[in-house]
Amino acid sequence: MALPPDSDGPADERRKESMSKKKKACEMFGSMVFNEEVMKQRLSNTCYRAWKKCVEEGTPLSLETAHEMAAEMKNWAMDRGATHYTHWFQPMTGVTAEKHEAFITPQEPSRALMQFSGKELVRGESDASSFPSGGLRATFEARGYTAWDPTSFAFIKDGSLCIPTIFCSYGGQALDKKTPLLRSLEELSRQAVRVLRLFGDDDVKKVTSQVGAEQEYFLIDKDVYSRREDLLLTGRTLFGAKPPKGQELEDHYYGTIKPRVAAYMEELDEELWKLGIYAKTKHNEVAPAQHELAPIYADANTACDHNQLTMEIMKKVAGRHNMVCLLHEKPFAGVNGSGKHDNWSLSTDTGLNLFKPGSTPSQNARFLLFLTAFIKGADEYQELLRCTVASPGNDHRLGAQEAPPAILSIFLGDELTAVVDAIIQGTEYVDQGKKTLSIGVDMLPHIPQDTTDRNRTSPLAFTGNKFEFRMLGSSQSVTGPNVALNTIMAEELGQFADRLEQAEDFNAALHQLIRDALRDHQRIIFNGNGYEDSWVEEAERRGLSNLTCTADALQTYLQPKHVELFRRHNVFTEEELAARNEIHLENYCEVLGIEARTMLDMVRRDIFPAVSAFSGEVARSVAAKRSVLADLDCGSEEDLLRRLSALTGEMMAQTAGLERALAEPRGEDAYGLAHYYRDTVFAAMERLRAAVDQLETITSARYWPYPSYTDLLFSIK
Ligand code: ADP
Ligand code: MG
Repeated sequence: MALPPDSDGPADERRKESMSKKKKACEMFGSMVFNEEVMKQRLSNTCYRAWKKCVEEGTPLSLETAHEMAAEMKNWAMDRGATHYTHWFQPMTGVTAEKHEAFITPQEPSRALMQFSGKELVRGESDASSFPSGGLRATFEARGYTAWDPTSFAFIKDGSLCIPTIFCSYGGQALDKKTPLLRSLEELSRQAVRVLRLFGDDDVKKVTSQVGAEQEYFLIDKDVYSRREDLLLTGRTLFGAKPPKGQELEDHYYGTIKPRVAAYMEELDEELWKLGIYAKTKHNEVAPAQHELAPIYADANTACDHNQLTMEIMKKVAGRHNMVCLLHEKPFAGVNGSGKHDNWSLSTDTGLNLFKPGSTPSQNARFLLFLTAFIKGADEYQELLRCTVASPGNDHRLGAQEAPPAILSIFLGDELTAVVDAIIQGTEYVDQGKKTLSIGVDMLPHIPQDTTDRNRTSPLAFTGNKFEFRMLGSSQSVTGPNVALNTIMAEELGQFADRLEQAEDFNAALHQLIRDALRDHQRIIFNGNGYEDSWVEEAERRGLSNLTCTADALQTYLQPKHVELFRRHNVFTEEELAARNEIHLENYCEVLGIEARTMLDMVRRDIFPAVSAFSGEVARSVAAKRSVLADLDCGSEEDLLRRLSALTGEMMAQTAGLERALAEPRGEDAYGLAHYYRDTVFAAMERLRAAVDQLETITSARYWPYPSYTDLLFSIK
């Protein structure tokens, strides 16, 4: 076949295909989002400006504006095939909630109009009685309200226009994760702007935290998944002997992506791009079948919405590829679990990153002040930060033999640590170029620009222009940790502003303040290996807390310091915080209870019958052999039979033990109950698992009722 004169054959075809793909990606990006660009095109100038002012300055929107906005949203959504709308919110379940309403409105006689009013956009009423409220709302007051969050764009998902909203009770108490986030962002901005004014910056009106959430996950084949009751009910394997090959060779990390996974990732990217999510990086992770997705960072509110959507779409797209996406923190024992890295920084509406070291002494002074505020805050509120990542799933990672440890510390890197030391000691700092800079009052040190981090064990690492909080569990909402980071930062910046606003000599006061704070909170800085036992001892000497499980962590949640912090910054009332604590404690006990009951069910209905049948076969085979040759050596079979029998006995004893533990959960209060689940129920689960996993290794694969770890971890060919 003759090729067209401008073609060089298959390579040309591939280039064209790739170009059309790129074009498609650009066109696709944000196509399902009612974003600023769309608003500019479709709304009247007055309406657009009113929205902009609302977002930038917090001025309320008139009902008239809301009406126009709603009508245009509806037209835009209908152009894209949507027929319904929903207020999309983030209740305390950790997943999102939606209740779809059709745009359809009856019109006399037997006609219908498609309508969506400003009132419907701005506020919704929803039966809140089935969402966890931690006692904030008695069931007779079941109403909950959703209120539009105009700072987060509406989008279309599954034929519905989704409107991001907050969710609160009749009395205005937060029942969701977004409300406190918005409150914390407002307060953070207020305090940060105060500090910037002191540095002579009069232009900045708003400071926002920026968040990039790296998401780890496992992909396994749906057919093997659906044969595991534990995965179906709890998201993790409750039994499973170690596979002969795990992650020892480290051949999976950054390895070639298998075609089936690549196809999944491609479709996932496209779905996320349509929703305006900047999915950027994808690669294989350390464990077999484990992968990671990282978006480009965005403002905290958008990033939190986006991470929630990302997790949902990840699962949905996996289904289309006959795979299952596991977001559990520890789906498989013995191989790495999944976490989430919350990259966090502060930026001004004028485009400054406040954690970026500058090139002038004044910029560096500002940088050091923000850095110091963060260090001080992380030290003072280490327990609070630990609480925000406490969950039954994450208990398998934090404090277990896995990154990062449960002790909160900050990695600064050697160079920045040297700067900190020099400031504390009032000595001279010698920078990389061996240039000596004295740390005078108005001459803070030159800060090295490249503080690249090589320490993967640190729970909270400074990575050049942002902090990376690495303790989050893969399935959790990133909102809680960000609410805490924002509020802690607001508190510290507020304290600094109070002190500096009174100062007669700003530079002297600034230097003193940085020095005092660094000296007092230096203990939180640790650049070493967080896995080593010596760190646990060292941390104890430093007085750092080491809360190795959720039950221990939550015990510190409601301490007066935390209540006061959130109250002072109008992020949570004491009641709201107590409610959240109750929800977390309840959830902890419930999850462990479900896991324990699932184990009992699996043992009784599948594992015991299987092992018993296999033992029967071995016994029959001995009998059959002997019937042919009475003196035949059947030692191996007999040994096996004895071991099977002993382990089955052990398994059933542990099953009975677990059943007893579950029969009467005891605890003086909610904390006591959580500890009971941890110390008694979970311990019994572990013992039962040990017996079953041993049995798995000696039971014929033909009899074992579940796909093995090898089947699961290497299920995607
Ligand atoms: P890694 O942690 O794997 O080394 P990167 O350094 O590429 O990865 O960044 C990880 C995440 O941090 C990405 O989501 C990225 O968008 C985000 N990120 C980068 N800069 C910032 C910033 N200034 N503020 C918040 N997040 C950021
Ligand atoms: Mg990272």
